[in-house]
Amino acid sequence: MSAFVRLSSRAIKVLRVAALALIVAVACVRVARTWTVFSATADEPQHIAAGIEWWGGTDVVQHEPWRTVNPPLARIAVGLGPHLAGTRSTPFLRDMLYTGPGYARNLMLSRPGILPFLALAIVLTWLLARRAYGETTVQTRLHQAYFRRDVLFVYSNQCCVCELKVRPLLQGAHIVPDSEAVGAPVVQNGLSLCSLHHAAYDPSTIRIKADYTVAVENEWIEAGDGFARASLSEFDGRRIHLPSDATHHPNPDFLNERFRR
Ligand SMILES: [Zn+2]
Repeated sequence: MSAFVRLSSRAIKVLRVAALALIVAVACVRVARTWTVFSATADEPQHIAAGIEWWGGTDVVQHEPWRTVNPPLARIAVGLGPHLAGTRSTPFLRDMLYTGPGYARNLMLSRPGILPFLALAIVLTWLLARRAYGETTVQTRLHQAYFRRDVLFVYSNQCCVCELKVRPLLQGAHIVPDSEAVGAPVVQNGLSLCSLHHAAYDPSTIRIKADYTVAVENEWIEAGDGFARASLSEFDGRRIHLPSDATHHPNPDFLNERFRR
């Protein structure tokens, strides 16, 4: 039995949300720390002005209007703070940030408007990355390490087919893949196989029957291929090397399930 502790799916979800929230918080703080450093960027006053015009409900558009070129939501968001502080659009754009509470305060009030979009971008990137790379990679690698250790131990560190004892070349092979519900990472669902026989087992070039004998798919083996005969055909019909403790033997139900495929 594996000795590792498996987190519940609920605990993993909570940790995942907490990690995402931490990333968003750190990003927002780091961005906010620049607000007192940088003056307005080239077109920032224009975006703020468009937002202020929208909040003011004016039909007289003085600056590049929010309803044309740029996506409006961010402009509306950055216009809210200055609008509430009493800043209004001016005939000349260069004057606007200096009205109401003044230049620095207007910038400080407008810039939080972009944070929801930063948070949204981070969350969407997170979701896309999870979809692209899979969410179980780390868990799988962790339990694979324990699974390999346990399986190799009960098989006395040798391949159950050829009895190779070179540990770096030995792997813990799942009988029923761990991607399936019944494919638990337990030794009864495992086989200690060398790299060659594991690679042959996965596509069923060799199979292990429920009576623990090997069945070799000879279709791929050419008559003159001496190495293939010695490393594969040679074991056809032979019984595999089993763990000394019968409770660690492969479960015949798992072998049957795998053999039928
Ligand atoms: Zn082997």
